[in-house]
Amino acid sequence: MSTQPAGSAAPQMSDESNPRFASYGPELPVTSPLALGPVVSPPHTVEGFVKEFLHELNYGQGVALSRSSVNDQYLASARAVRSYLMAQWLETQRRQRETQAKSVAYLSAEYLLGRQFDNALLATGLTDTVEKGLAACGIDIDVVRAQEIEPGLGNGGLGRLAACFVDSLASMNVSAIGYGIRYEFGIFRQTFVDGRQVEQPDTWLDLGSPWEVAHPENSVQVGFGGRTETYTDDDGVERTRWIPDSNVKGIPHNYLVPGYQNGRVNTLRLWSAVATQSFDLAIFNSGDYTAAVRAQTFAENISKVLYPEDSTPQGRELRLQQQYFFVACSISDFLNYVLPADFDITKLPERIIFQLNDTHPVIAIPELMRVLVDDRGMAWDEAWAITQQCFAYTCHTLLPEALEVWPTELLGKLLPRHLEIIYRINDEFLAEVRKTFPGDELKARNMSIIAEYPERSVRMAYLATVAGAKVNGVAELHSQLLRDKVLPDFSAMWPEKFTNVTNGVTPRRFIKLANPLLSTLITDTIGVGWLNDLERLRELEPYAEDPEFRASFREVKAANKVRLRALLEQRDGLVLPEDAMLDVMVKRLHEYKRQLLKVLHIVALYDLVVSGQAKIEDITPRTFVFGAKAAPGYRMAKEIIHLINRVAETVNNDPRVDGRLAVAFPPNYNVTLAETLIPAADLSEQISLAGKEASGTGNMKFALNGALTIGTDDGANVEIRQLVGDDNFFLFGLSEPQVEELQAKGYRPSAFYESNESLRRAIDLIASGAFTGGDREAVGPIVGDLLYNDRFMVLADYQSYIEAQERVDERYADPDAWSRSAILNVARSGFFSSDRAMTDYMDRIWHVSPRR
Ligand SMILES: *Cc1c(COP(=O)(O)O)cnc(C)c1O
Repeated sequence: MSTQPAGSAAPQMSDESNPRFASYGPELPVTSPLALGPVVSPPHTVEGFVKEFLHELNYGQGVALSRSSVNDQYLASARAVRSYLMAQWLETQRRQRETQAKSVAYLSAEYLLGRQFDNALLATGLTDTVEKGLAACGIDIDVVRAQEIEPGLGNGGLGRLAACFVDSLASMNVSAIGYGIRYEFGIFRQTFVDGRQVEQPDTWLDLGSPWEVAHPENSVQVGFGGRTETYTDDDGVERTRWIPDSNVKGIPHNYLVPGYQNGRVNTLRLWSAVATQSFDLAIFNSGDYTAAVRAQTFAENISKVLYPEDSTPQGRELRLQQQYFFVACSISDFLNYVLPADFDITKLPERIIFQLNDTHPVIAIPELMRVLVDDRGMAWDEAWAITQQCFAYTCHTLLPEALEVWPTELLGKLLPRHLEIIYRINDEFLAEVRKTFPGDELKARNMSIIAEYPERSVRMAYLATVAGAKVNGVAELHSQLLRDKVLPDFSAMWPEKFTNVTNGVTPRRFIKLANPLLSTLITDTIGVGWLNDLERLRELEPYAEDPEFRASFREVKAANKVRLRALLEQRDGLVLPEDAMLDVMVKRLHEYKRQLLKVLHIVALYDLVVSGQAKIEDITPRTFVFGAKAAPGYRMAKEIIHLINRVAETVNNDPRVDGRLAVAFPPNYNVTLAETLIPAADLSEQISLAGKEASGTGNMKFALNGALTIGTDDGANVEIRQLVGDDNFFLFGLSEPQVEELQAKGYRPSAFYESNESLRRAIDLIASGAFTGGDREAVGPIVGDLLYNDRFMVLADYQSYIEAQERVDERYADPDAWSRSAILNVARSGFFSSDRAMTDYMDRIWHVSPRR
């Protein structure tokens, strides 16, 4: 039998709306059943799967079952599963061409997808079939699963959010397409050498990538550099054209984004860069072969590697090239390939909304203007009116250093026409500002898209705000601070532009796949249907009082801890103690997230025991787990990683605290590790300084998996606490207004050090070199910064944090009270489904609706 579902190639060949297919030869008549698409999907039987699998193994991989490697088996089973999805994808695409429904194009430089295999099985409902089929071939599905390397095409929360959103859009039957970059090397693989982070390249493509389908025939050419010139067209109209001096070709790679058992499969299109023929031909003809090869390398560098900075952009030329490359490819793809050839471009806002995931894709705004005005000959004002309806911008930060700016010199060199367009947008915008705030020249200067100091540069967030139909923050508090602190003049001018959409996470991956035992318990208790209607978790509330349910809930948590212990032992050789509270802080390493506060807590507990102030029997047994990558150039973050590893080593090897305090820092925190770690956690550490974390999504994953949160009033913690209730959340620390107040009156961290004995002892112990084999220099930068700078007020929140941890201990000592709170966290966190976030985007920003 064929590995392709019947007719898989036919519908596209019949697509007469697309001129690019003209070169594909004679079209099939549209009445041919093959042309209409693969309505018959392959049989969902064990036997059917085995046939597909063996076919892929024999004729795809070219090996017999008896001689196949685990990788062969993984690739063959992935492709067999993919063929089921492909049938549904073709049908989804056919319907979309027919209805021409308004779509969402999510533009994101990052997608932190996680493994695909299990998600594909869940979406197709094939998990059991495939497990049985592989078993019939003598293969353990778990071994096959473990072979997959996750595509790590994102840094952290922002990239994972994009992955959750495309999952939800498909699962809610919304017409949507994700656009991004297919980095050859995703986020680095973190290793530790002597406790210090050492980065290794992420070679995720090395063993083959069965989930992507490259379409070189749909490649797009993108220009860079060169100059602009004005000319008079045939109608006597003065116009501008851009003459780039180099070109790069973007090749789309389709990833299938299956909805949860609803038959829809959307597309994620990731672009990789290669040299164009026209680019190197000239050089080839000149006989300079090595120059031609260098040109090739220039082009291919663009999609080579993901920048590993999370919330601190470096402003490198290559990064701007990446940004422009992927949005130019995406806009061209949408206008020329997705839209029918006869589409009336003035109707664009009825057909598409481009959602900008942070400022990374904001260069798409002048690019659409350029295409409409220069390429399609539209008048400026009309093009601007259309552009303003086609974009919406999501801001993800409050840190000033995270707001992206591009020096005009760099931007003008790389994209001269775009800089001209930005200047004109700014001129017209400033005219409007002067009308709104007459005589207020300072206002005009403050709001200008062009900053003059310290160097002339383009403020990408301002450009996005001026052009976007809507601007949203990602949690209630963040959206409020965005209006009041980051963009106050803009929110005064256009209050209706600003809105909030609190982030969410997909319950398919982060409950069903990550926590199958909890999922079964939930289904056994409230029935099916909650996975795509997560507010239904509310029905669990009464069971918080049910001793039998509590016991089952505890059994699930215990089993998840066993699973985690086994994984960490096998993955990293880490042996965790049994029967301890699992206290987890996993997220990117950043000073504002305050991993150091967690370290101080551990050191203080350790100090209590070793100094004899407390008996080890009186300390609640806790295992602290960290997971965190630091940006390779972020010195302080790397020092903190080193300190955590040193503290772990010391504590774990000290017989005085043996078995009751332990610290584990498995390297290379990623989505795959998160999926085992989070369901095992008792306590979720969400301890950023108030006003610094835009939302957080890790916090949501933990609450949904029945961990209690110890957290500040920051980001989505605020909403988590409101929903789960004060009794079921351990709040501590300064509020955002209190932070401002302390800042204003002059924050002196040393005052806190001097007046708090426990804090002083903890810092002194670190400073003494107790964790670094007597080496005080190794901890100098951290201690010095805490005492004399402490930008994120670790010391100011220390006492409050310690007291909250004491409340944690008290609650934990009463297993029934703890379970009750944990169950209520699950029951009341349905709001944090990314499905709800998508509903909010649809209602408040996109004005699209799910398809039937
Ligand atoms: C959810 C997630 C994040 C985001 O965590 P925060 O605590 O919200 O910063 C980062 N990395 C991975 C792998 C995740 O799954």
